[in-house]
Amino acid sequence: MSKTIYVDNAATTAMSDKAIEAMMPYLKGVYGNPSSLHTVGQVAKEALDGARARIAKCLNADPKEIYFTSCGSEADNQAIRSAAVNGLRKGKKHIVSTAFEHHAVLHTLKKLEKEGLEVTYLDVHSDGLVTAEQVQKAIRSDTALVTVMYANNEVGTIQPIREIGEVCKKTGVPFHTDAVQAVGHIPVDVKADNIDMLSLSAHKFHGPKGVGALYCKRGIPLNTFIEGGAQERGRRAGTENIGGIVSMSYALEETCAHMAENAAKLVVLRDKLIDGLLKIPHSKLNGDRRKRLPANVNMCFEGIEGEGLLLLLDAKGICASSGSACTSGSLDPSHVLLALGLPHEVAHGSLRISLSEYNTEEDVQAILKAVPEVVSYLRGMSPVWEELEKGERPHLI
Ligand SMILES: *Cc1c(COP(=O)(O)O)cnc(C)c1O
Repeated sequence: MSKTIYVDNAATTAMSDKAIEAMMPYLKGVYGNPSSLHTVGQVAKEALDGARARIAKCLNADPKEIYFTSCGSEADNQAIRSAAVNGLRKGKKHIVSTAFEHHAVLHTLKKLEKEGLEVTYLDVHSDGLVTAEQVQKAIRSDTALVTVMYANNEVGTIQPIREIGEVCKKTGVPFHTDAVQAVGHIPVDVKADNIDMLSLSAHKFHGPKGVGALYCKRGIPLNTFIEGGAQERGRRAGTENIGGIVSMSYALEETCAHMAENAAKLVVLRDKLIDGLLKIPHSKLNGDRRKRLPANVNMCFEGIEGEGLLLLLDAKGICASSGSACTSGSLDPSHVLLALGLPHEVAHGSLRISLSEYNTEEDVQAILKAVPEVVSYLRGMSPVWEELEKGERPHLI
């Protein structure tokens, strides 16, 4: 059995050695509750404070603006619900978002619509981008929140967050961004980017699963999401996951310290993959070629099903994805690819390769050998491909 090539880092990443080491003392030894006044508790409290400061520094925030959560999804839920409730208090019942958000955002918005709010979902251009002008046009006098993701988890496109933030600032509308795919991978500065609320998640940057954070700018009201004790300045009750939080803070510090060199290496690997895979006839890159995450490749191959492609690649030791992990298992094509305007037939044949700095040139070469083999094998068995080749139906890409 050859070695496993893991290229599904947008779904989750392996923990770094540093993140594991940082967590160990809290699994064995340092067991205090930071809310306890005695020495054992205060040791944990200091660790918590240190982690908050470390994370704040990476985002150019103040430690008091960081609230720990159990995951990125929770941070998204809390930010959006809080802004919705505070908007309603002022008679504002409208939210602006996009059609290709993560389900943690989309499903929260759908729920709020059922509860009487109105949501404008901005159309995404075929290059996988929305513009600040679109946001500007969609804002109304009763808009309570704009929520636009920093970088898309499937096609990797990086949105013009600074410009969108500027529009929100000028119009006085709170601005939340789901930055789970961006933080630790590309420079994020909450002040320069005009961000009021931001969600992040540790397991997307070599930290542990089950821990995230919400940045909420001072002055932006944040409602309590989980009722109970006074943890997280009364906004999120529950004894803190100290080991996870400390580990997350070191993982983020490490990835931010190496961001430029990692990105430089990843862009080379990414572009080799894109150029190599585009040699497959009737293939297409999804999302803008330049305004994308350094580690993201997302392709469509006409005439095949993404599921078949994934299973055969897995048999060759290559672990990739065909859209988001949350939608695999359902037969609907990804809502993100549909939002980019791809026809259903084409969106079904998608492949997402998301690299990390742990991948190598050899991994890329192995993928560039395996994918064309598997695509042509699947096309050889596909009745759709036969019709395309005979000219009985037109090629769409
Ligand atoms: C992974 C992801 C989330 C969810 O984060 P969890 O910590 O897994 O809940 C939210 N948004 C985006 C863009 C993601 O990629």
